[in-house]
Amino acid sequence: MTSRADTPITLPLRRDLAGEVPYGAPQIDVPHLLNVNENPYPPGPEVVATLAAYVSAAAGTLNRYPDRDFPALRADLADYLAGESGVRVDPAQVWAANGSNEVMLHLMQAFGGPGRTALSFAPTYSMYPEYARDTHTRWVAGRREEDFTLDPDVAVATIREHTPSVIILTSPNNPTGTAMPFSTVEAVCEAALELDVDGSPAVVVVDEAYAEFRRAGVPSALELLERYPNLAVSRTMSKAFALAGARVGYLAGSTDLVDALRIVRLPYHLSAVTQATARAALAHAPALLAQVDSLRTERDATVAWLRSQTLDGRPLQAAESDSNFVLFGTFDDRHAVWQGLLDRGVLIRETGPEGWLRVSIGTPQDMIAFKDALVEVAGL
Ligand code: PMP
Repeated sequence: MTSRADTPITLPLRRDLAGEVPYGAPQIDVPHLLNVNENPYPPGPEVVATLAAYVSAAAGTLNRYPDRDFPALRADLADYLAGESGVRVDPAQVWAANGSNEVMLHLMQAFGGPGRTALSFAPTYSMYPEYARDTHTRWVAGRREEDFTLDPDVAVATIREHTPSVIILTSPNNPTGTAMPFSTVEAVCEAALELDVDGSPAVVVVDEAYAEFRRAGVPSALELLERYPNLAVSRTMSKAFALAGARVGYLAGSTDLVDALRIVRLPYHLSAVTQATARAALAHAPALLAQVDSLRTERDATVAWLRSQTLDGRPLQAAESDSNFVLFGTFDDRHAVWQGLLDRGVLIRETGPEGWLRVSIGTPQDMIAFKDALVEVAGL
């Protein structure tokens, strides 16, 4: 008798998912991991001790579902934002999920959907089209300028042309590192207010995953929350906070916007362990963020070094960066450069416009290894 498992069948995969592959950068075990914009400094022993104590307390309650609305974590996040940006929001204006990836998905589930459009400006974070696909939302990529900035007039014209229900601005942008001036975010929020999406304005999401790395004087879109109830500012604990493994992202917006996200979230989506981990980390925010300044300095030094290099008689280009990574190039065969670095134990990211590569800022030792390998591989 043949078992059913031996009989080949096809599965009823959604037609629009046919041929799709799971998203993700290669996870390769090499000495210098500079490909997914992580913080290279692991939590220190004091932070680890507090994390263990909080998680241990949560462990004793794991027979029960966690608090669905996690008010204590939301209050801690509101306090953190007030300290970081000077903008005080009510805990009811804060939302969190398993990474800002899930926060974004909640936004698309609530405000996108069939017959609706989400808009961003390329080159930008490559997960956005996937959130759109997964929520049956039409995806439109507007364009950034040659220097990766966004021209506000182009942005407003693109918004008027496509009438999106969700507009995603990324600042600092991934993979380019480009921060967005306040005036551009304001122009987009104003244009969003004028739209008519089933009788409502569009939602503007400013993805500030890398905000803590911005240079002095660059404001956060959090400062605009008071003026725009259709604005959400998304952050993450994965980057500056050095907590990528914990999977905690969050946003601040109006209470109406947060209440809309509560409709689409799965019940108990944020586990008791995650809530405890995030609260323990927030109690140690200064220690976890201690390396942000040195990462910024290392970033600026990396940009300067790359620009001082010559390739085939031309200076190498490095994009302005307010984040913890640098986009640089251009190379005739960027894959060969990526592979050559990998062969020397340095994993970077093959992403961005043709010819460009992205390197995350690591420890000084990581950056020495990166520079040595690049000189050798690219023949600088
Ligand atoms: N937004 C941007 C711009 C990112 O680059 C990333 C991660 N690479 C994320 C959101 C998601 O981060 P996480 O889910 O870890 O919070």
